[in-house]
Amino acid sequence: MHVLVLGSGQLARMMSLAGAPLNITLSAYDVTTDRVVHPLTQTPIEQTLDQAIADADVITAEFEHIPHDILAICEKSGKFLPSSEAIKAGGDRRIEKALLDTANVKNAKYYVINTRDDFDAAIEHVGIPMVLKSALGGYDGKGQWRLKELSQIDEIWTEMQECIAASDNQAIVAEQFIPFDREVSLVGARGVNGDVVVYPLAENIHVNGVLSLSTAIDAPELQQQAKSMFTAVANQLNYVGVLAIEFFDVDGQLLVNEIAPRVHNSGHWTQQGAEVCQFENHLRAVCGMPLGSTKLVRETSMINILGEDSLPQELLAMEGCHIHWYGKSKRPGRKMGHINITADYTGELQRKLCELAKLLDKEAFPAVHEVAEHIKA
Ligand code: ATP
Ligand code: MG
Repeated sequence: MHVLVLGSGQLARMMSLAGAPLNITLSAYDVTTDRVVHPLTQTPIEQTLDQAIADADVITAEFEHIPHDILAICEKSGKFLPSSEAIKAGGDRRIEKALLDTANVKNAKYYVINTRDDFDAAIEHVGIPMVLKSALGGYDGKGQWRLKELSQIDEIWTEMQECIAASDNQAIVAEQFIPFDREVSLVGARGVNGDVVVYPLAENIHVNGVLSLSTAIDAPELQQQAKSMFTAVANQLNYVGVLAIEFFDVDGQLLVNEIAPRVHNSGHWTQQGAEVCQFENHLRAVCGMPLGSTKLVRETSMINILGEDSLPQELLAMEGCHIHWYGKSKRPGRKMGHINITADYTGELQRKLCELAKLLDKEAFPAVHEVAEHIKA
Protein backbone atom coordinates (compact mmCIF):
# COMPACT_ATOMS: atom_id res chain seq x y z
CA MET A 1 0.00 0.00 0.00
CA HIS A 2 1.17 3.55 -0.68
CA VAL A 3 -0.17 6.44 1.39
CA LEU A 4 0.13 10.13 0.54
CA VAL A 5 0.07 12.36 3.63
CA LEU A 6 -0.94 16.03 3.44
CA GLY A 7 1.69 17.71 5.60
CA SER A 8 5.34 16.71 5.95
CA GLY A 9 6.15 17.28 9.61
CA GLN A 10 6.98 14.93 12.46
CA LEU A 11 3.60 13.23 12.38
CA ALA A 12 4.07 12.13 8.75
CA ARG A 13 7.62 11.09 9.68
CA MET A 14 6.44 8.88 12.54
CA MET A 15 3.64 7.42 10.41
CA SER A 16 6.26 6.51 7.84
CA LEU A 17 8.37 4.73 10.48
CA ALA A 18 5.33 2.86 11.79
CA GLY A 19 4.13 1.83 8.34
CA ALA A 20 7.37 0.21 7.19
CA PRO A 21 6.92 -3.17 8.97
CA LEU A 22 3.51 -3.56 7.32
CA ASN A 23 4.94 -2.69 3.89
CA ILE A 24 3.00 0.55 3.88
CA THR A 25 5.10 3.21 2.17
CA LEU A 26 4.50 6.95 2.47
CA SER A 27 5.13 10.16 0.64
CA ALA A 28 4.29 13.55 2.09
CA TYR A 29 2.94 16.70 0.50
CA ASP A 30 4.37 19.89 1.96
CA VAL A 31 1.41 22.23 1.66
CA THR A 32 3.48 25.39 2.17
CA THR A 33 6.05 24.68 -0.57
CA ASP A 34 3.74 22.68 -2.87
CA ARG A 35 6.29 19.87 -2.98
CA VAL A 36 6.00 16.12 -2.62
CA VAL A 37 8.79 14.87 -0.34
CA HIS A 38 10.01 11.77 1.44
CA PRO A 39 8.59 12.06 4.98
CA LEU A 40 11.79 10.87 6.71
CA THR A 41 14.42 12.79 4.80
CA GLN A 42 12.37 15.64 3.30
CA THR A 43 14.08 14.81 -0.01
CA PRO A 44 11.92 16.17 -2.84
CA ILE A 45 10.18 13.59 -5.01
CA GLU A 46 9.89 14.92 -8.56
CA GLN A 47 6.12 14.73 -8.71
CA THR A 48 3.22 17.15 -8.89
CA LEU A 49 0.40 16.85 -6.37
CA ASP A 50 -1.82 15.40 -9.13
CA GLN A 51 0.78 12.72 -9.90
CA ALA A 52 1.18 11.92 -6.20
CA ILE A 53 -2.60 11.59 -5.85
CA ALA A 54 -2.74 9.26 -8.85
CA ASP A 55 0.10 7.13 -7.39
CA ALA A 56 -1.43 6.79 -3.92
CA ASP A 57 -3.76 4.03 -2.77
CA VAL A 58 -4.89 6.21 0.12
CA ILE A 59 -4.55 9.91 1.00
CA THR A 60 -4.63 11.19 4.55
CA ALA A 61 -3.53 14.24 6.56
CA GLU A 62 -1.24 15.03 9.47
CA PHE A 63 -2.74 18.46 10.21
CA GLU A 64 -6.00 20.31 9.87
CA HIS A 65 -4.95 23.70 8.48
CA ILE A 66 -5.06 22.63 4.84
CA PRO A 67 -6.29 24.98 2.10
CA HIS A 68 -9.80 23.96 1.06
CA ASP A 69 -8.93 23.75 -2.65
CA ILE A 70 -6.32 21.07 -1.87
CA LEU A 71 -8.80 19.19 0.30
CA ALA A 72 -11.32 19.32 -2.55
CA ILE A 73 -8.84 17.86 -5.06
CA CYS A 74 -7.98 15.04 -2.64
CA GLU A 75 -11.59 14.31 -1.78
CA LYS A 76 -12.49 14.15 -5.49
CA SER A 77 -9.98 11.32 -5.96
CA GLY A 78 -12.16 9.14 -3.70
CA LYS A 79 -9.02 8.13 -1.74
CA PHE A 80 -9.04 10.68 1.04
CA LEU A 81 -9.59 9.58 4.67
CA PRO A 82 -10.88 10.65 7.14
CA SER A 83 -12.81 13.25 5.01
CA SER A 84 -12.56 16.93 4.20
CA GLU A 85 -15.55 17.45 6.54
CA ALA A 86 -13.53 16.01 9.48
CA ILE A 87 -10.43 18.05 8.60
CA LYS A 88 -12.50 21.24 8.36
CA ALA A 89 -14.09 20.53 11.75
CA GLY A 90 -10.59 20.31 13.24
CA GLY A 91 -9.42 23.48 11.47
CA ASP A 92 -12.36 25.80 12.12
CA ARG A 93 -13.60 26.24 15.68
CA ARG A 94 -17.07 27.31 14.45
CA ILE A 95 -17.56 24.00 12.61
CA GLU A 96 -15.98 22.11 15.51
CA LYS A 97 -18.36 23.61 18.07
CA ALA A 98 -21.40 22.94 15.85
CA LEU A 99 -20.23 19.33 15.44
CA LEU A 100 -19.89 18.85 19.21
CA ASP A 101 -23.41 20.18 19.70
CA THR A 102 -24.83 17.93 16.95
CA ALA A 103 -23.05 14.90 18.45
CA ASN A 104 -24.55 15.95 21.78
CA VAL A 105 -21.26 15.99 23.71
CA LYS A 106 -20.64 18.45 26.51
CA ASN A 107 -18.41 21.42 25.70
CA ALA A 108 -17.87 24.95 26.98
CA LYS A 109 -20.60 27.51 26.24
CA TYR A 110 -19.60 29.68 23.26
CA TYR A 111 -20.51 32.55 20.96
CA VAL A 112 -19.13 33.44 17.52
CA ILE A 113 -17.78 36.98 17.16
CA ASN A 114 -17.53 38.86 13.85
CA THR A 115 -18.30 42.42 14.98
CA ARG A 116 -17.95 44.61 18.04
CA ASP A 117 -21.69 44.11 18.73
CA ASP A 118 -21.10 40.36 18.71
CA PHE A 119 -18.38 40.87 21.32
CA ASP A 120 -20.90 42.53 23.64
CA ALA A 121 -23.41 39.76 22.95
CA ALA A 122 -20.70 37.16 23.72
CA ILE A 123 -19.99 38.77 27.08
CA GLU A 124 -23.71 38.67 27.82
CA HIS A 125 -24.12 35.06 26.69
CA VAL A 126 -20.86 33.44 27.84
CA GLY A 127 -19.91 35.62 30.79
CA ILE A 128 -16.53 36.65 32.21
CA PRO A 129 -13.91 35.22 32.48
CA MET A 130 -13.81 33.99 28.92
CA VAL A 131 -11.29 32.57 26.50
CA LEU A 132 -11.30 34.03 23.00
CA LYS A 133 -9.88 31.92 20.19
CA SER A 134 -9.42 32.62 16.50
CA ALA A 135 -11.76 30.37 14.51
CA LEU A 136 -9.06 29.51 11.96
CA GLY A 137 -5.36 28.77 12.25
CA GLY A 138 -4.98 28.32 16.03
CA TYR A 139 -2.48 25.86 17.46
CA ASP A 140 -0.29 25.59 20.58
CA GLY A 141 -2.35 28.30 22.28
CA LYS A 142 -1.66 30.85 19.51
CA GLY A 143 -4.43 33.24 18.49
CA GLN A 144 -6.01 33.32 21.95
CA TRP A 145 -6.97 35.97 24.45
CA ARG A 146 -8.18 35.78 28.03
CA LEU A 147 -10.83 38.32 29.05
CA LYS A 148 -10.80 38.52 32.83
CA GLU A 149 -12.29 41.94 33.44
CA LEU A 150 -14.31 44.50 31.51
CA SER A 151 -11.43 47.01 31.46
CA GLN A 152 -9.60 44.77 28.95
CA ILE A 153 -12.37 44.92 26.34
CA ASP A 154 -11.03 47.74 24.14
CA GLU A 155 -7.48 46.47 24.05
CA ILE A 156 -8.54 42.91 23.26
CA TRP A 157 -11.06 44.08 20.63
CA THR A 158 -8.32 46.01 18.81
CA GLU A 159 -6.19 42.88 18.60
CA MET A 160 -9.11 40.63 17.66
CA GLN A 161 -10.19 43.04 14.93
CA GLU A 162 -6.70 42.89 13.42
CA CYS A 163 -6.83 39.12 13.57
CA ILE A 164 -10.26 39.02 11.87
CA ALA A 165 -9.08 41.41 9.13
CA ALA A 166 -5.83 39.53 8.50
CA SER A 167 -7.36 36.48 6.84
CA ASP A 168 -10.38 35.50 4.81
CA ASN A 169 -13.35 34.01 6.64
CA GLN A 170 -11.70 34.60 10.04
CA ALA A 171 -13.79 35.08 13.20
CA ILE A 172 -13.34 34.70 16.95
CA VAL A 173 -14.99 32.07 19.09
CA ALA A 174 -15.66 33.24 22.65
CA GLU A 175 -15.69 30.39 25.13
CA GLN A 176 -16.64 30.19 28.76
CA PHE A 177 -13.49 29.89 30.90
CA ILE A 178 -13.51 26.40 32.44
CA PRO A 179 -11.86 26.13 35.88
CA PHE A 180 -10.65 22.57 35.24
CA ASP A 181 -8.91 20.23 37.71
CA ARG A 182 -6.81 18.77 34.93
CA GLU A 183 -6.64 18.20 31.19
CA VAL A 184 -6.89 14.75 29.66
CA SER A 185 -7.13 13.50 26.10
CA LEU A 186 -8.36 10.40 24.39
CA VAL A 187 -6.73 9.07 21.24
CA GLY A 188 -8.50 6.32 19.36
CA ALA A 189 -9.22 4.94 15.93
CA ARG A 190 -12.32 4.13 13.93
CA GLY A 191 -12.03 1.59 11.13
CA VAL A 192 -13.67 1.49 7.71
CA ASN A 193 -16.24 -0.95 9.15
CA GLY A 194 -17.10 1.38 12.05
CA ASP A 195 -15.08 -0.49 14.71
CA VAL A 196 -13.81 1.85 17.45
CA VAL A 197 -10.73 1.29 19.62
CA VAL A 198 -9.34 3.79 22.13
CA TYR A 199 -6.11 4.05 24.10
CA PRO A 200 -6.04 4.72 27.82
CA LEU A 201 -6.60 8.42 28.58
CA ALA A 202 -3.54 10.63 28.83
CA GLU A 203 -3.21 13.34 31.45
CA ASN A 204 -1.64 16.41 29.87
CA ILE A 205 0.40 19.25 31.31
CA HIS A 206 0.63 22.37 29.15
CA VAL A 207 3.16 25.14 29.67
CA ASN A 208 2.33 28.48 27.97
CA GLY A 209 -0.36 26.79 25.89
CA VAL A 210 1.99 24.08 24.59
CA LEU A 211 1.82 20.41 25.57
CA SER A 212 4.80 19.60 27.74
CA LEU A 213 4.16 16.23 29.40
CA SER A 214 1.58 13.45 28.87
CA THR A 215 1.09 10.36 30.99
CA ALA A 216 -1.18 7.41 30.24
CA ILE A 217 -3.54 7.00 33.18
CA ASP A 218 -5.84 4.34 34.55
CA ALA A 219 -9.15 6.11 35.31
CA PRO A 220 -12.02 3.71 34.48
CA GLU A 221 -14.89 6.13 35.18
CA LEU A 222 -13.39 8.96 33.09
CA GLN A 223 -12.31 6.48 30.42
CA GLN A 224 -15.93 5.40 29.95
CA GLN A 225 -17.18 8.99 29.65
CA ALA A 226 -14.40 9.83 27.20
CA LYS A 227 -15.01 6.73 25.08
CA SER A 228 -18.70 7.42 24.73
CA MET A 229 -18.05 11.03 23.65
CA PHE A 230 -15.32 9.82 21.30
CA THR A 231 -17.69 7.31 19.71
CA ALA A 232 -20.43 9.93 19.32
CA VAL A 233 -18.08 12.34 17.52
CA ALA A 234 -16.42 9.66 15.39
CA ASN A 235 -19.76 8.16 14.33
CA GLN A 236 -21.21 11.60 13.58
CA LEU A 237 -18.33 12.18 11.14
CA ASN A 238 -18.36 8.59 9.83
CA TYR A 239 -14.70 8.94 10.72
CA VAL A 240 -11.92 6.65 9.49
CA GLY A 241 -8.46 6.91 11.08
CA VAL A 242 -7.02 8.12 14.36
CA LEU A 243 -8.89 10.93 16.09
CA ALA A 244 -7.89 12.74 19.28
CA ILE A 245 -10.18 14.55 21.69
CA GLU A 246 -8.92 16.94 24.38
CA PHE A 247 -11.04 17.26 27.52
CA PHE A 248 -11.26 19.33 30.67
CA ASP A 249 -11.83 17.25 33.79
CA VAL A 250 -14.06 19.28 36.12
CA ASP A 251 -14.75 17.34 39.28
CA GLY A 252 -14.89 14.01 37.47
CA GLN A 253 -17.07 15.34 34.62
CA LEU A 254 -15.51 15.64 31.19
CA LEU A 255 -16.11 18.55 28.82
CA VAL A 256 -14.64 18.49 25.31
CA ASN A 257 -12.08 21.23 24.68
CA GLU A 258 -11.24 20.43 21.09
CA ILE A 259 -10.80 17.66 18.57
CA ALA A 260 -7.88 16.84 16.29
CA PRO A 261 -8.73 14.76 13.21
CA ARG A 262 -5.31 13.08 13.15
CA VAL A 263 -2.61 11.44 15.21
CA HIS A 264 -1.87 13.64 18.20
CA ASN A 265 1.04 14.77 20.37
CA SER A 266 -0.70 13.37 23.47
CA GLY A 267 -0.66 9.94 21.78
CA HIS A 268 3.11 9.77 21.21
CA TRP A 269 3.47 7.70 24.41
CA THR A 270 1.81 4.80 22.53
CA GLN A 271 5.07 4.21 20.61
CA GLN A 272 6.51 2.54 23.71
CA GLY A 273 3.49 2.19 25.99
CA ALA A 274 0.86 0.47 23.85
CA GLU A 275 0.68 -2.81 21.99
CA VAL A 276 0.19 -0.98 18.65
CA CYS A 277 1.05 2.72 18.41
CA GLN A 278 -1.28 5.48 17.17
CA PHE A 279 0.72 5.93 13.94
CA GLU A 280 0.36 2.28 12.94
CA ASN A 281 -3.30 2.29 13.90
CA HIS A 282 -3.98 5.35 11.79
CA LEU A 283 -2.41 3.65 8.77
CA ARG A 284 -4.24 0.40 9.49
CA ALA A 285 -7.55 2.29 9.65
CA VAL A 286 -7.14 4.31 6.46
CA CYS A 287 -5.74 1.29 4.59
CA GLY A 288 -8.80 -0.78 5.57
CA MET A 289 -6.83 -3.22 7.73
CA PRO A 290 -7.97 -4.60 11.10
CA LEU A 291 -7.19 -2.18 13.94
CA GLY A 292 -4.43 -3.16 16.36
CA SER A 293 -4.66 -3.60 20.10
CA THR A 294 -4.55 -0.35 22.07
CA LYS A 295 -3.68 -2.15 25.29
CA LEU A 296 -1.23 -0.46 27.65
CA VAL A 297 1.85 -2.65 27.87
CA ARG A 298 4.04 -0.30 29.95
CA GLU A 299 3.38 2.68 32.18
CA THR A 300 4.56 5.60 30.05
CA SER A 301 5.07 9.36 30.12
CA MET A 302 5.93 11.48 27.09
CA ILE A 303 7.97 14.65 27.42
CA ASN A 304 8.16 17.16 24.57
CA ILE A 305 11.58 18.49 23.61
CA LEU A 306 10.95 22.16 22.79
CA GLY A 307 13.62 24.35 21.20
CA GLU A 308 16.51 22.04 22.18
CA ASP A 309 18.61 19.97 19.78
CA SER A 310 20.69 17.93 22.20
CA LEU A 311 20.16 16.00 25.41
CA PRO A 312 22.54 14.57 28.00
CA GLN A 313 23.94 11.22 26.77
CA GLU A 314 23.01 9.61 30.11
CA LEU A 315 19.39 9.54 28.96
CA LEU A 316 20.17 6.91 26.34
CA ALA A 317 21.70 4.73 29.04
CA MET A 318 18.57 4.88 31.19
CA GLU A 319 16.42 1.77 31.09
CA GLY A 320 13.02 2.57 29.59
CA CYS A 321 14.11 5.93 28.15
CA HIS A 322 13.44 6.38 24.42
CA ILE A 323 14.34 9.47 22.44
CA HIS A 324 12.54 10.42 19.23
CA TRP A 325 14.08 13.31 17.26
CA TYR A 326 12.21 14.86 14.36
CA GLY A 327 15.21 15.93 12.25
CA LYS A 328 14.31 19.62 12.39
CA SER A 329 16.57 22.64 12.68
CA LYS A 330 16.58 24.42 16.02
CA ARG A 331 14.22 27.34 16.71
CA PRO A 332 13.10 28.68 20.07
CA GLY A 333 10.08 26.74 21.35
CA ARG A 334 9.91 24.49 18.29
CA LYS A 335 8.80 20.89 18.77
CA MET A 336 12.15 19.16 18.10
CA GLY A 337 11.40 15.69 19.43
CA HIS A 338 10.07 13.86 22.44
CA ILE A 339 11.15 11.46 25.14
CA ASN A 340 9.09 8.43 26.09
CA ILE A 341 9.90 7.11 29.54
CA THR A 342 8.49 3.73 30.51
CA ALA A 343 8.30 1.55 33.61
CA ASP A 344 6.69 -1.66 34.84
CA TYR A 345 4.58 0.05 37.50
CA THR A 346 3.54 3.56 38.54
CA GLY A 347 6.00 3.95 41.41
CA GLU A 348 8.87 3.07 39.12
CA LEU A 349 7.68 5.58 36.49
CA GLN A 350 7.60 8.27 39.16
CA ARG A 351 11.14 7.36 40.25
CA LYS A 352 12.32 7.62 36.65
CA LEU A 353 10.64 11.00 36.19
CA CYS A 354 12.53 12.23 39.26
CA GLU A 355 15.74 10.84 37.78
CA LEU A 356 15.01 12.66 34.50
CA ALA A 357 14.43 15.91 36.39
CA LYS A 358 18.00 15.65 37.69
CA LEU A 359 19.35 15.32 34.14
CA LEU A 360 17.15 17.83 32.31
CA ASP A 361 17.40 21.59 32.44
CA LYS A 362 14.61 23.22 34.46
CA GLU A 363 14.07 26.09 31.99
CA ALA A 364 13.71 23.78 29.02
CA PHE A 365 11.71 21.05 30.78
CA PRO A 366 9.59 22.81 33.41
CA ALA A 367 6.84 20.15 33.48
CA VAL A 368 9.27 17.33 34.38
CA HIS A 369 10.55 19.40 37.29
CA GLU A 370 7.01 20.29 38.34
CA VAL A 371 5.96 16.61 38.30
CA ALA A 372 9.13 15.52 40.13
CA GLU A 373 8.57 18.10 42.86
CA HIS A 374 4.96 16.97 43.19
CA ILE A 375 6.06 13.31 43.52
CA LYS A 376 8.64 14.15 46.16
CA ALA A 377 6.16 16.25 48.17
P1 ATP B 1 -3.46 22.75 20.43
O1 ATP B 1 -2.00 22.89 20.27
O2 ATP B 1 -3.87 21.76 21.47
O3 ATP B 1 -4.21 22.56 19.15
P2 ATP B 1 -4.84 25.21 20.57
O4 ATP B 1 -4.05 26.39 20.26
O5 ATP B 1 -5.76 24.66 19.55
O6 ATP B 1 -3.90 24.10 21.09
P3 ATP B 1 -6.65 24.93 22.85
O7 ATP B 1 -6.39 23.51 23.09
O8 ATP B 1 -8.03 25.31 22.50
O9 ATP B 1 -5.67 25.63 21.83
O10 ATP B 1 -6.19 25.79 24.14
C1 ATP B 1 -4.86 25.72 24.65
C2 ATP B 1 -4.92 25.59 26.15
O11 ATP B 1 -5.57 26.74 26.73
C3 ATP B 1 -5.73 24.40 26.65
O12 ATP B 1 -4.96 23.22 26.65
C4 ATP B 1 -6.11 24.88 28.04
O13 ATP B 1 -5.04 24.74 28.94
C5 ATP B 1 -6.38 26.36 27.85
N1 ATP B 1 -7.81 26.60 27.53
C6 ATP B 1 -8.38 26.55 26.32
N2 ATP B 1 -9.70 26.79 26.38
C7 ATP B 1 -10.00 26.99 27.67
C8 ATP B 1 -11.21 27.26 28.39
N3 ATP B 1 -12.38 27.41 27.76
N4 ATP B 1 -11.13 27.40 29.75
C9 ATP B 1 -9.94 27.27 30.38
N5 ATP B 1 -8.77 27.01 29.76
C10 ATP B 1 -8.78 26.86 28.42
MG1 MG C 1 -5.49 21.99 22.47
